[in-house]
Amino acid sequence: MFEKILIANRGEIALRIHRACREMGISTVVVHSTADANGMAVRFADESVCIGPPSARESYLNVPAILSAAAITGADAIHPGIGFLAENASFAQMVEEHGFAFIGPTAEHIRIMGDKISAKSAVTAAGLPVVPGSEGAITDFEDAQSLADTVGYPVLIKAASGGGGRGMRVSRGPDDLKDAFDEARSEARSAFGDDAVYMEKYLEKPRHIEVQIIADQHGNCVHLGERDCSVQRRHQKVIEEAPSPSLSADEREYIGNLAAKTARELGYRGVGTMEFLYEDGNFYFIEMNTRLQVEHPITEMITGVDLVREQIRVAAGLPLSFRQEDIVFQGHSIECRVNAENSETFAPCPGTITNLHVPGGLGVRIDSPIYAGYKIPPHYDSLLAKLIVHGANRDECLMRLKRALEEFVVEGVDTTLPLHHRLVREPEFIRGDYNIHWLERVLADRKS
Ligand code: ADP
Repeated sequence: MFEKILIANRGEIALRIHRACREMGISTVVVHSTADANGMAVRFADESVCIGPPSARESYLNVPAILSAAAITGADAIHPGIGFLAENASFAQMVEEHGFAFIGPTAEHIRIMGDKISAKSAVTAAGLPVVPGSEGAITDFEDAQSLADTVGYPVLIKAASGGGGRGMRVSRGPDDLKDAFDEARSEARSAFGDDAVYMEKYLEKPRHIEVQIIADQHGNCVHLGERDCSVQRRHQKVIEEAPSPSLSADEREYIGNLAAKTARELGYRGVGTMEFLYEDGNFYFIEMNTRLQVEHPITEMITGVDLVREQIRVAAGLPLSFRQEDIVFQGHSIECRVNAENSETFAPCPGTITNLHVPGGLGVRIDSPIYAGYKIPPHYDSLLAKLIVHGANRDECLMRLKRALEEFVVEGVDTTLPLHHRLVREPEFIRGDYNIHWLERVLADRKS
């Protein structure tokens, strides 16, 4: 097992990884920018190294600085966390070339899954259903036109290198196809430096269902059930729950086993998430994330598995500590992402937290690096805290979530807590009757 792990990330995920290491008796090195010198993970870590100024390009994306920090502190492995370099294949490769273990999949798997076109063709070959659409990139508008006629409107133009919901445009008919095509390409070019786009049928009422898998380096792969992440704003997840209120036990087993089988056939290692859209009883693969997900705690709550610990174990070459038949789903879990944003306009609200009270009690978990007096830097994403609740069933989970939200006090900055208070009271949410377009509709109704 590793003796020292360097955590190449910040915020709540750096803290989450540090916690797993601590419980495993592994020392931690947390790297940070000058803006994060007072971060909670930095304070708790055994060692910390400042790797650059606030700009992520010069710190959390600064590969030479991170590798040097690992070398001078004598770390054996690097955990990339979520975001920043977590899905950067050349970083994974460089980490290994410099003699450190990369806590994640091989550079080759990151590369295949990082390009959504190659990801779709890899999983199709393994038997996963995908959204109907183009088989590869579309470069000519004429090709886009004839394909859209075949697939049938509405269609979605998506960036091959896309992420975070960017580089995506819907076209409802031939009249707006040109605009959607051009806009998706130019957004993809400026956001990802790659203007390759592809086309998918735009589904009108799907749910976003994703399957958590974990594979060791001995050919074992287990799925840990699904998460329903359909409550989204601008294609970004806001609330997640596990299990999905819409799947039957048979559907859960079917898609879980299929995802695990696919990962096994691809020779995948580490944690990964296969994302699907689910409509009218059918699953359509959309992408695979080759890293931990922000919403991984809800899976931990219903399975009792520490995903980060298991991820570290398989990276060290140990076999999975459980088999598929050992995984038993217990109860229900919901996560609310609490952001430092205005809950009406969603404008980011960095600043100082003047007063803080976090909820507690049975079945309540907070993954967050904040404390009273903490100054939220303006340079990074606005995730402040993940409120994760577990109950014996969905009703109990919802009651507990409402209660926990009432106890949550953050003063000094705007947060999205008021939005969550409202959403957990929406009758459709309570019934579990929502799809990926639901939240946008709720927000639009509020404005009108
Ligand atoms: P990103 O990598 O930017 O997150 P994804 O491919 O994972 O992009 O899609 C993000 C979200 O966009 C999905 O959860 C879903 O809400 C929406 N989406 C993606 N593909 C489709 C589609 N074919 N039809 C309808 N909505 C889609």
